[in-house]
Amino acid sequence: MFFDPATLAFLSDTVLTPWGLALLGLCVGSFLNVVIHRLPKILEAQWQIDAAATLGQTLPAGVMEPTEVISLSRPRSRCPACGHPIRWFENIPLLSWLALRGKCSACGTAISVRYPLIELATAALFAACGVHFGAQPTTLLWCGFVAVLVAASAIDWDTTLLPDDLTLPLLWAGLVAAGLGWNLPLADALWGAVAGYLSLWSVYWFFKLATGKEGMGHGDFKLLAAMGAWLGAPMILPIVLGSSIIGAVVGIGMKLNSSLREGVYVPYGPFLAGAGLVVTLAGSERVLGWLGWA
Ligand SMILES: [Zn+2]
Repeated sequence: MFFDPATLAFLSDTVLTPWGLALLGLCVGSFLNVVIHRLPKILEAQWQIDAAATLGQTLPAGVMEPTEVISLSRPRSRCPACGHPIRWFENIPLLSWLALRGKCSACGTAISVRYPLIELATAALFAACGVHFGAQPTTLLWCGFVAVLVAASAIDWDTTLLPDDLTLPLLWAGLVAAGLGWNLPLADALWGAVAGYLSLWSVYWFFKLATGKEGMGHGDFKLLAAMGAWLGAPMILPIVLGSSIIGAVVGIGMKLNSSLREGVYVPYGPFLAGAGLVVTLAGSERVLGWLGWA
């Protein structure tokens, strides 16, 4: 559909094979590390600017327009400990981390193992999309879906925020893909988004009216709405069930070994996204079966 037959045949034998997609996933994962690290900083600077403008105050010292100091492409990556600029050959996904043995080449400070793990996870998920959806161009759409979920999960885990800049474009992309006939019928995508949003919205209000507490953030509704637009309404139930069970187990586990910081709640987004990925790749029937529901 997107490409002439010769190009399509070439892509099917290269990029769209599971190994080709894994390689692509390593590179995309490397970019996701930048997004995960910088997007919250960019948003925070923007909020301070907006708040100061609304209140008619001057900016707090040290806050500048985010575009002047940081964006997804600038400045070049540096070692956070010594400021050593990361050269291109130190920035090759996975391989550089292994070659540097997880340490900055200038000062020896440890580089978090999370960087290669994000790259590996993205690569594995892209390859899984290749196996599940086959060597066809729409598989690349699913890789995009996966990439946004990985970034959103990591940012939510770090900051307990699910940025609109990720959830809303994912929602629109799902609806547009359906409208173009690349995925679900448009009506299924629309009702999937509505079901995703309303299911968590109603749980939120029930919980709030019953206990006076907020059980989750509005970002969670938008994330599930976005997944509904890609997967359709029947996938919402297994995602909500699976994510609640695993989220509760992990939350209780973290409380028991007291790795949960005081006053900080376990973000729900990573579990929603994780359950969404499992349902995408395994199918809702199978997931409901595992949960003993069907
Ligand atoms: Zn360093």
